[in-house]
Amino acid sequence: MSLKNKLLLSTFSVAFTMSVITLVIFIVLLMYHLNSKVDSLYNDTTKTMSFIQKTLAKNSREVVRELKECPERDYDNYMILEEEGILLGRVRNCMFFGTRFSEAVGFTASVNGMDWFIMYSRDLLERYTNNDREFLDRFLKGKRGDEDYIVEGSFSLRLVRIAKRMAGYKVIDTYRTMLIDYPILLKGDLSIGKVVFVKDFTPVLLETILTPAVFIFYSISLVAILSTILLLLFNRIVKEILFLREATAKFKEKDFSEIQEINEMVKKTRSRDELFYLKRSILDMAQELEATLNQLKSERDQFEEMAYTDPLTGLANRRFFMKEAEQFFQYARRYNEPITLIMLDIDDFKLINDTHGHDVGDKVLKNLAQVIRNNIRKSDIAARYGGEEFIILLPSTDENGALLVAERIRQDFKNTSVSINGESVSTTVSVGIATMGESNEFEELIKKADSALYEAKKQGKDKVVVFKDEREELQEQGSPVPESQNFQ
Ligand code: GH3
Ligand code: MG
Ligand code: MG
Repeated sequence: MSLKNKLLLSTFSVAFTMSVITLVIFIVLLMYHLNSKVDSLYNDTTKTMSFIQKTLAKNSREVVRELKECPERDYDNYMILEEEGILLGRVRNCMFFGTRFSEAVGFTASVNGMDWFIMYSRDLLERYTNNDREFLDRFLKGKRGDEDYIVEGSFSLRLVRIAKRMAGYKVIDTYRTMLIDYPILLKGDLSIGKVVFVKDFTPVLLETILTPAVFIFYSISLVAILSTILLLLFNRIVKEILFLREATAKFKEKDFSEIQEINEMVKKTRSRDELFYLKRSILDMAQELEATLNQLKSERDQFEEMAYTDPLTGLANRRFFMKEAEQFFQYARRYNEPITLIMLDIDDFKLINDTHGHDVGDKVLKNLAQVIRNNIRKSDIAARYGGEEFIILLPSTDENGALLVAERIRQDFKNTSVSINGESVSTTVSVGIATMGESNEFEELIKKADSALYEAKKQGKDKVVVFKDEREELQEQGSPVPESQNFQ
């Protein structure tokens, strides 16, 4: 797996794990909050109910005392069951006045923002009223119920069914509704039924969800932001590593074009981290490699030059000349182009060396090289053939053209001098010329030029002699052509 994918995977796993942990924390917090909300609501309701019951009961105790003589009913309890419901309150001369129990329940419910209903146990109700049918009928008027309970208040049968089977409190409809039941005790601990408060729990649920939801929103946002930052950072690092990899691959191919960019990268990097040191070592390595290669190249160039040029005169050396000239010669032969060779030898050079020293001799050699350079075309090849001998190949040049060049060189050389310690030294040069003519090999042409040069020396030096085939000469004289050679 690539580094980029690894980093992506690890960032996403971290982000995912963190999100899951946050979600779990959220759910735990939510459950805890909801349960504590339910508990506190139940406690509040119970307290309010208990307070109301106690207050009313205290007053009712007096009622019980005062109504001892009242014959119609058994008032040994402080709550009185009347047609309208259970009444709590003060009664005088058998005349009841006080608070209806349902009103107290309604008040309690309104304090806590709840709906309510009261369930009277049918069985106990009948026993408590000694099956006074007339009273029961009046009591049941306007109330509904089933075989177990008479129900008063606003209710739905579903809630009544649930309330039947519960004690304390119950949360239903996924925390949207809460039922709190509160037993009605008569005659000591005798339960005559229960009061059921119905709380719409939706606002509480929303409010309870909201706090952890805000928390989770911030947490997940934070995780997302951190992950993005991490990814951006990773991406930059991965990009740089990929770039370095490509750059090093190029370095391997001796392409150092990326050195500048790596240099910029190193300059721009402020933190001295591992990547910085990696970039710097790659840069150092690349620069060192480039410098070494350049040095090798220049050394090679130098060696090549040394191999092909004569260090004293700067002209081509014999080796280079032979290689190049041979090709020109073959080309000329094939396309029947004229080509001419000039050979030069400085006259009495030994004498100059002996008289003025080697250094002066060297200067004279350089001088002739310069004279040659001044008088030939770029397409001609001039070389130092050895010692004080020079050679020039003139492609596309016939005998007459070569003669002109040779003459110019001879004259110019004669007219220039080399000065040493105020003394000026000058000498002459002998020149031999040979054109391709019947020559089949380049060596043959050289031999002919050399012969012409020899002839020039023989004729007294400071001369230009053109090689002539004996045949040509005899043809010119009208004589038969022998095999040997002659000169002009
Ligand atoms: P000629 O007129 O018959 O050509 O006589 P020469 O003295 O020029 O010919 P010779 O062959 O007798 O002498 C050539 C001399 O050139 C001998 C050698 O010391 C000298 N020489 C060869 N190469 C160099 C060089 O590179 N520098 C110097 N100063 N002298 C050289
Ligand atoms: Mg010589
Ligand atoms: Mg000589």
